[in-house]
Amino acid sequence: MKVIVSVDEASCNLCGTCVEICPTNVFAISEGRLRIESSRCIYCRGCEALCPKKAISLKALDEGLKILVKNAQTATQTTRQLTLTQALKQNNTYNPTKDNQNGAGVA
Ligand code: SF4
Ligand code: SF4
Repeated sequence: MKVIVSVDEASCNLCGTCVEICPTNVFAISEGRLRIESSRCIYCRGCEALCPKKAISLKALDEGLKILVKNAQTATQTTRQLTLTQALKQNNTYNPTKDNQNGAGVA
C-alpha cells in the first residue's frame, strides 16, 4: 500500500514524538527540520494519533482496495461457515444440543 505522509510545518513544533514512535523510521529531525520518507510507511496510524499538534496527515492511496479485499475475505469465511452448517444439517449430523453437550467436557 502506498501512503503519502505529510506534516503541516506551521503546526509542528519538532517535539520528536513521531520520530520516536514510528516503527519504520519514516521521520527524522535534521538541521531544524522534520524529514519524511513516506515510502517506508506501513500505515499503522500511530503518528497521526499521537502527534500533540495533530500536524500529520496520512493518505493511503489504495485504501479502498484494501477494504475490498478484507470484505471479500470476510464474505468468503461467512459463506464457508454457512455451507458447512447446511451440509451437516442435510446429513442429519448437525445437532446443536448434542454437539454442545459433547463440547461440555465429558471425562
Ligand atoms: S509528533 Fe507532530 S509536532 Fe511532534 S515532531 Fe512529529 S509532526 Fe511535529
Ligand atoms: S502511520 Fe505508522 S508507519 Fe506510517 S509514518 Fe505514521 S507511525 Fe510511521
